[in-house]
Amino acid sequence: MIHFIGAGPGAPDLITVRGQRLMAQADCVIYAGSLVNPQLLEGIKAGCRVLNSAAMTLEEVIDAMACEEAAGHDTVRLHTGDPSVYGAIREQMDRLDRLGIPYEVVPGVSSFCAAAAALGAEYTLPGVSQTVVITRMAGRTPVPQREGIASLAAHHATMVVFLSAGMLEGLSRELLAGGYEPDTPAALVYKASWPEERVVRCTVATLPQAGRENGIHKTALVLVGDFLGEEYERSLLYDPGFSHGFREAKKP
Ligand code: SAH
Repeated sequence: MIHFIGAGPGAPDLITVRGQRLMAQADCVIYAGSLVNPQLLEGIKAGCRVLNSAAMTLEEVIDAMACEEAAGHDTVRLHTGDPSVYGAIREQMDRLDRLGIPYEVVPGVSSFCAAAAALGAEYTLPGVSQTVVITRMAGRTPVPQREGIASLAAHHATMVVFLSAGMLEGLSRELLAGGYEPDTPAALVYKASWPEERVVRCTVATLPQAGRENGIHKTALVLVGDFLGEEYERSLLYDPGFSHGFREAKKP
């Protein structure tokens, strides 16, 4: 069968235990070479066929999977981060359905989780934002008009912007047009969890300058919102005065 596996954000020990076990058993690994850390391939068994999907079309990927399946082999399709986020797995799963080839998905640590870890941040702070918007600027892949950055920015929720580090001028402009104050905190996280990871804190207005000065224009996430600021409310869950299913409130 085919195992779609989330490789995690980069550090080779951020793949799941399940993903690592399946990698070690695979007869063929097709990995997204543009972002998957090649160190993850060190654990594969001798004789395992390795293909880099960066140079392949969808049709070639599916042909390779079908060929391995016909030979009774196990194939791992290794995607960066978690495969459900900009992973282009739906089109592969639909073709496998048509060919009657079984598959499963093993989730991974998305880069947006690794970015929060790098920042020492919590995306969902009480009194600040309880919503995380995962989005991107339109590039060669269009974004539906109703999901434009400016309209999403109007919510003032936490925003995680993928695939847009090369468009920081436009991104900053759209965020401002959506109603963010120019001094709203923002950050760039380059190659979260890799040895070359870099964290740059800035504001919505200074995003383009921060990218330019630090030479960051790809493999980075843009984080925006007051979750990067100093103000928030403490959680009710751990408040002494709050009762819930597992704990009685303490008497004052
Ligand atoms: N499925 C992946 C995202 C793939 S899209 C995931 O869950 O993370 C590729 C984009 O993800 C990049 O352009 C960049 O915006 C982001 N990205 C992937 N790995 C990253 C990392 N280690 N640090 C920062 N951004 C990363």
